[in-house]
Order: sequence, then C-alpha cells, then structure tokens
Amino acid sequence: MKQELQLVVSPEEAANENRIKEIAAQQLHTNTTNISYIKILKRSIDARSRNIKINLKIEIFINEQPPSLPSYKINYQDVTNKVPVIVIGAGPAGLFGALQLMENGFKPIVIERGKTVKDRRRDLAAINKAQLVNPHSNYCFGEGGAGTYSDGKLYTRSTKRGDIKKILETFVAHGADENILIEAHPHIGTNKLPKIIEAMRQTIINNGGEVHFNTHVIDLILKNDAIKGVICHQLENNTTTEIIADSVLLATGHSARDIFELLHSKNILIEGKTFAMGVRVEHPQALIDSLQYHCTPNEVAHKREYLPASSYSLVHQAMGRGVYSFCMCPGGIIAPCATAPGEIVTNGWSPSKRNNPYANSGIVVTIEPEDYKKFSEHGPLAGLRYQQALEKMAWKAGGQTNEKESLGQIAPAQRLQDFVNNKLSTTLPDASYQPGIRSAPLHELLPAEIGKRLQIGFQEFGKKMSGYLSNDAVIVGVESRTSSPIRIPRDVTTLQHPKIKGLYPCGEGAGYAGGIVSAAIDGQKCANAIAGSFI
Ligand SMILES: Cc1cc2nc3c(=O)[nH]c(=O)nc-3n(C[C@H](O)[C@H](O)[C@H](O)COP(=O)(O)OP(=O)(O)OC[C@H]3O[C@@H](n4cnc5c(N)ncnc54)[C@H](O)[C@@H]3O)c2cc1C
Repeated sequence: MKQELQLVVSPEEAANENRIKEIAAQQLHTNTTNISYIKILKRSIDARSRNIKINLKIEIFINEQPPSLPSYKINYQDVTNKVPVIVIGAGPAGLFGALQLMENGFKPIVIERGKTVKDRRRDLAAINKAQLVNPHSNYCFGEGGAGTYSDGKLYTRSTKRGDIKKILETFVAHGADENILIEAHPHIGTNKLPKIIEAMRQTIINNGGEVHFNTHVIDLILKNDAIKGVICHQLENNTTTEIIADSVLLATGHSARDIFELLHSKNILIEGKTFAMGVRVEHPQALIDSLQYHCTPNEVAHKREYLPASSYSLVHQAMGRGVYSFCMCPGGIIAPCATAPGEIVTNGWSPSKRNNPYANSGIVVTIEPEDYKKFSEHGPLAGLRYQQALEKMAWKAGGQTNEKESLGQIAPAQRLQDFVNNKLSTTLPDASYQPGIRSAPLHELLPAEIGKRLQIGFQEFGKKMSGYLSNDAVIVGVESRTSSPIRIPRDVTTLQHPKIKGLYPCGEGAGYAGGIVSAAIDGQKCANAIAGSFI
C-alpha cells in the first residue's frame, strides 16, 4: 500500500531518515517494520518563528516493495539528416530550445560566441585577477550563457505557466542532484553547473546536432522578409562563414548589445521595455542567518548544523516604483559581470554548499521610459544607452581613468548605513568582490530616480528585518543587467517576429524570460512553435 503524508518536523528530525520513519509510523498507527520505503516528494523550510520547522510531503510504502528508481533519461532521436534550425546562443534558452528541437525531430545548429565552459574559466580568472574583460567570454557569454557561473537558483517568480518539472528533470538527466526535484527553492551551484552544461552539449552532438563555439553571429541573411541564415565571424581564425537555415531561434541574452544594434540598424522592429537597475548589497552571512533564524550571532553555528545558509526576499514600493531584492545568493560571491571593458556590472554566484561567509543580493528599482528621456534620440535603444551610461559611471567611480586602455574592474562601494545617510564611507568592510572595491559616494553618483528609491527601500527593509540596515553591510555598484531593456516583438501564436518570417526571438534578451528556468521554458516554447510551423 502507498500513502502520502504531510509532516511538520524539526530540522534535526528532517535530517534523520529513521526519525522520519518513526514519525510517519506513529501517524499511520503502524510499526516502522511495516514501512518498506519513504520517498520525499517536497521539502520546504518554515522559518517564520523562532521554532523553525521543516515541511515534508512524503510517500510511504507499507508492506510494499520500493519502486525501482525513476529514470529521467530522455530518448532523443538521431537528427543528423533532419531539417536544420539555427540556435544563436548556448544559454538556458538556446540549450533547452536545442534539446526540444531534437525531441521534435529537427537538427539544432547551436552557435555560441563564447568558449566552452572549461575554456571560459581562464577568462573569468582574467576578469577577477587581471581585471581584463574578454568581450566574447565572460560571466555572461560562453557555453551555458549567464546561467553557468551563477547560483543556479532554479525557481522562478514568473507567473507564466510552463513545464518546470520537465526543465528540472532534464537537469537531473544531465547530472544534477535529484534533490532539485523536491526542494521548494532548488539550486545547483557554480561548481556543479559546468559538468551539467557539458553533458547537455554532448547530448546535442551525440544525437546529430551541432554546437559551434567562438562563433559570433554578426548578421542575418534575409530574403523577402524571411530568414535564410546567418553570417558568423569565427573568432579563432578571423574568418567569416555563412550558415543556412529557414528558422533561427535568437537566444542571445540581455547583454548582446550588438545584436540589438544589428536589428535596429536593419530596421527590424525592436521596442524599449521596463527593466530594473540598482546595486548589489552584501552582508555577513552570519548576520542574515541570525535575522532569518531568529537567534543571536553566537547561536548561528548551532542552527546551521541542520539548516542551509538563509536567504531573503524583500520588496517595497518607493515613490511609486518597486524596489526589490533580486538574485539573492546566500553563502555567495559578488561577480564582475561586465561584457566589455570600461564598464562595471555586478551579479552574484554561490557554490552548491553556499558556504562562503557572505550573503549578497541585487537590490534594484524598476526603470520606466520617463527615467531615460535624456537618451530618447536613441529610439528603442534609449534604455540600453541609459544602462550603459550607469555602467560607465560605476567604472569611473571605481577609480579607473584610462579610457584608452579601459582596464580595471574595481567597483564603487559604500557602507549601507552611510549610503542611506548620504555619507561617504571612510572605510569599507571586507567584501567578496574579487577585483576589489573602492569607497565612492554612490548616494550622489546614482541618478535620483534610483538612488533615492534605494535609500527608502533599504530603510524599509531595515524595519522588516531589524538589523538588515547595518554598516557591516556594503553596497557595490552597479547591478544593471537584471533584465533586458529591449523587447524583440513576436507574434503571440507563431512566436515569430511580426515582420521577419522564420525569426524566433527567445529568452531573456528578447524580453520573454528572467532567470534560468523561465529562459529554458521559453526555449522549449519556441522550439515547439518551430515544429508547429512545419505542420
Ligand atoms: C552571475 C550571474 C548569476 C545568475 N544567477 C542566477 C540564478 O541563480 N538563477 C537564475 O534563475 N538566474 C540567474 N542569473 C540569470 C540567468 O543566468 C539568465 O536569466 C539566463 O541565463 C538567461 O538565459 P538566456 O538563454 O535567455 O540568455 P543567456 O544566458 O544570456 O545566454 C545568451 C548566450 O548567447 C550568446 N550570444 C550573445 N550574442 C551572440 C552572438 N552574436 N552570436 C553568438 N552567440 C551569442 C552569449 O554568449 C550567451 O552564451 C544569473 C546571471 C548571472 C550573470
């Protein structure tokens, strides 16, 4: 017999399989010896009170053989000789789109400007240590896209429905821990993502698809307003090639500014959209743990024996706009995510164990067209230019002056309370941001529409989480790539660009996703739309 149960247990009990069995047996008025197997279906933490509880949804097998382990392996067909579809970008949208294309019987030709996950590591080391940004291989560009060297959070605030279960199972089929299927807030971690991404690439190649790295798409081949292929610049040998296909899944992410510029220069319709910018804030993880787990800093180590590094999610309406936490990374590191020299962009990552002593999060403000009126001469690119100007401001505020060399990734920073009190910080706390931070008056440097709202937001967050507004915390600027400032329009049914047949704008860069899971879902959706267009 099988039965489902909801249990509310202590963190210690949740970590002890035998104890879970005892509690389940008590509730079912049976003996533990009758329970042959317990499967955890969902796990979440309830830390609203001092008495922290773990909610478990479990399936119990009573006097019944445990089921054979489920296999998440997907049988892809051999697509070697099938209709080719060009997929530009090997981020979550491109990779999941390519896998779905193969399921649908199409041959994906994935084109990625960046390097393989392995080769990309050297460029990340160069940004962190030598402060040198390779515009084709960095935290945003390269195999796996912006999601590879991230926290790997696999939950989405998106209300758009998609097959999240399939996305998570595809990650598991490629080597992710099965726990991501049961956790309320699953995450993978930077140390584990690269192998999973490599396995996805191998699946594509083993089943007849193609993956080309160091291959930068520089133009679209169009005939009578229909896609016929793309022109690529091979970065390793500096040659140009054409790749021909009637369908292109354009999944180049929100940092591919040259793609937005290319579309605009070819009079292919793009639109400005609402996005968000702000700063990254970093606290000692122990401080956040003591606030979230309702204990003194001295008790944190004991609490953490059975609980993960804690996270938070904060939001406030300030002067008519949302100020909110974004991509919170418990036990994480602030990453230098610029995609070109001469700009500073922050984001965050964490390893699977989330065991660094810092907790960082983007805190951002919604940006509306009225904020970037000054840039209106740039038409649909106005928001992008505003974003670019802020990144350049941060680069200069980091103390970098040599415009010609454009070297340097030192970021401007300020203690949190000093920022709120309009005071330049005379000292800065240690921070995880590897290239280094420099004290700067961010309260003056950030445009008022962002800075003032952030100040109000931080004050409110300090009321919601007493102790959050601390001078042990530091803000680092700027968090500018939370979402795309551009939308590439598409027909709601065919998902093709309204003016260009065969062009499928996809993922975060096109404005249809925000995060790994929603980008992956959008990749699948576009792949299904491509299949639909052939029926
Ligand atoms: C450091 C960091 C941490 C993050 N942490 C998380 C997290 O924990 N959870 C989460 O949900 N989200 C996280 N994000 C956001 C998430 O990574 C993105 O939302 C997601 O990757 C978007 O997927 P995408 O496929 O649409 O685009 P991208 O991942 O941006 O992929 C686009 C790809 O296209 C390639 N490309 C661009 N232009 C061209 C061209 N002209 N020719 C060929 N290739 C091109 C790029 O090199 C890139 O690989 C993080 C982002 C960063 C930077």
